Amino acid sequence: MYHTQVKPVLSGLPLEALAETLKPLPKFRAEQVFRWIARGVSSFQEMTNLAIPLREDLERRFSLYSSVIAERAEDPDGTVKLYIRLHDGERIEAVLLTDGERRKTACLSTQAGCPLGCVFCKTGTRGLTRSLDSGEILEQFLHLRSIEPEIANIVFMGMGEPLLNLPELRKTLAVLTDSRGLGLSKRRITLSTGGIIAGIRSLAAAGPEVGLALSLTTADSALRSRLMPVTLSNPLPYLKEVLYDYQQRQGRRITLEAVLLEGINTRQEDSDALAAFASGLEVVVNLIPWNPVEGMVFEGRALREPSEREITAYIRRLERRGLKVTRRRRKGRGIAGACGQLGGAPEVRQPCSGPEAD
Ligand code: SF4
Repeated sequence: MYHTQVKPVLSGLPLEALAETLKPLPKFRAEQVFRWIARGVSSFQEMTNLAIPLREDLERRFSLYSSVIAERAEDPDGTVKLYIRLHDGERIEAVLLTDGERRKTACLSTQAGCPLGCVFCKTGTRGLTRSLDSGEILEQFLHLRSIEPEIANIVFMGMGEPLLNLPELRKTLAVLTDSRGLGLSKRRITLSTGGIIAGIRSLAAAGPEVGLALSLTTADSALRSRLMPVTLSNPLPYLKEVLYDYQQRQGRRITLEAVLLEGINTRQEDSDALAAFASGLEVVVNLIPWNPVEGMVFEGRALREPSEREITAYIRRLERRGLKVTRRRRKGRGIAGACGQLGGAPEVRQPCSGPEAD
């Protein structure tokens, strides 16, 4: 069946680590390999500026990638979801989103499953299998780019809690933003957290300076603890303090995301609590009407998407409190590729194309 990778994988190594791994090859050789990986070549044989014996030697000793696209699903709205099989048979999902201006965004996963257990999220019901390594995170981007070359933005809002996998994520970000390779702007990269205080503190102190979104959902502490148990170990007052500190140091606006659940967190008290939480921070509020997942319940009651009336009233109340509010478009529902719907990968069928694992 599946085997643990035996050869070291090169895809997720920042250039300095790659140069170290390829020693005694000179650094310029490592730079050449780094550039080829950024271009998404599928084998060492395509690295035409390396001599053939060197390509063969590298192929014997290393793997370029460790994952393959197992299946691809497309929604008529343009959203594409990839089911990706990892070297040990684990499956993760990555999504390509297209907005109204045809701008493409890659939504990537950082863990297989998620330990946070938010009650409204399919991934959360699955629990955590394991964290991904930097190559497994990077390869999601390369796989998506193999079907869409023009990806303008990256969001880490797929499966998992990015701040519980920060060391590997930092390596991936180093590869993504290195001007000698992919050269993506940090301003176009956002990570979304359920509110891991230690992780935000670490980001504030050591970067990288990517955008930060907090999946807040409600600022009513008691309700949030029931919807998002992570609140119990990361209380909202401390979370706010650390966000304030992050903003002072990084100088970037923070996004507060709120998944809206009918009759649960769209009350007057919720908009009041959210406005109070946001006060003193520079934020934009991004509302996400819950994307239905069958069979999900909260305290014995089936979760439902709020009505348009409920959503509009909630938005108005926030705007009256002076908050800038945006609303997430409904995208990818037809393929269970929308926010909160990931984690129901079907059994793997025929592999599709994309960078291949060696
Ligand atoms: S919403 Fe995010 S943090 Fe919460 S369980 Fe789902 S993937 Fe994890």
